Amino acid sequence: MLIEKVIDYYVELGKKPPGNPFRLSNSGRCARALAYQRFPTAFKAEPLPARVLMVLEEGKRVDKWLKEEFRKHCTKEWGWEEKEFHIEVDGVKIYGHADGVPTLEKYGPTVAELKSMSNFGFRNALQGKTDYSYRCQLNSYVVGGGLTNALWVCYRKETSHLLELFCSKKIAKVETRILTPSGGWLQYTPETPIEDEEWQRAEVAHPFDPNLHQEVIERFQQVIRSTPTKLPEREYGPKLICEKCEGKGFYLTEKRQIKKACTACNETGKVLEPRLEFPCSHCRFKQYCWPQAKLKYEGKKPLWFVPREVVEDTPVVHIHENLNPQDLGDLSPSPIPINDQPDDVELF
Ligand code: SF4
Ligand SMILES: [Zn+2]
Repeated sequence: MLIEKVIDYYVELGKKPPGNPFRLSNSGRCARALAYQRFPTAFKAEPLPARVLMVLEEGKRVDKWLKEEFRKHCTKEWGWEEKEFHIEVDGVKIYGHADGVPTLEKYGPTVAELKSMSNFGFRNALQGKTDYSYRCQLNSYVVGGGLTNALWVCYRKETSHLLELFCSKKIAKVETRILTPSGGWLQYTPETPIEDEEWQRAEVAHPFDPNLHQEVIERFQQVIRSTPTKLPEREYGPKLICEKCEGKGFYLTEKRQIKKACTACNETGKVLEPRLEFPCSHCRFKQYCWPQAKLKYEGKKPLWFVPREVVEDTPVVHIHENLNPQDLGDLSPSPIPINDQPDDVELF
């Protein structure tokens, strides 16, 4: 029939190597993956699945549509579309791209980017727990754009909710707000959930974080200084400690604090079969990074298991676990059910 020709096109496209790693959109990605990407002759990237490319294509369409809406309805604020800007690290120019540079009433000119998100990324952002890689990017856009602010207009694909994720030197702490049906703003917390049907619009503000920017600079420096035989350390790796019981072998129930044996780890506190998780599980270079990983199917789900001794002997730096100092503190789990499908799949 028809669709096989379209799919074939994307399958072919997915075979292309990933290209220049020195992009500001890569600010928060694993340094080692970026280094592999830098040397395409030495490291051949796995093909990108056609469906991932189609998701990206859909994202581009949403961008285009939202831009049209801004042109029509925000004539005073919206402008400077498709602006390129850069930061410089060790003499290498690292470019970023803004969908527009609107002038916001309260904050002035702002680098703006439109992002399609799935439930997973969107919910995290809504709770002020924006993913590390997104925070790095937003933060770098503030510097690269040479302005005080950067804004992401996030569109939740499943439900058409809209969220403005804002990062600014003029913001002191993370703030998350939802516009309620009565027109008032509600401070969003997991304890005061609000049904999807009851809201349309939210705002999340993050302070600019100079430490995070320093991490980004150091990450790009490592990639610049790498060679095919001298690669940066891995930033991710399989977990060894059971997350459910935090390594204790038991946990306390939430309400009555009753001690329960952890069945996830057979009370050992350890992950019995360590496996690659996101982003390693989606990384196009995992065969170089974790050559001992063995593919097994759990039901229909492909999983890569890595022998425990290999994980124990492989150094991993967990930079992404550093929290924003102004983070919201100890947030309980999301009141909204989450699916564990990561959002925009990393493109390396
Ligand atoms: S497999 Fe994981 S650690 Fe290795 S390069 Fe990819 S993301 Fe980084
Ligand atoms: Zn456990």
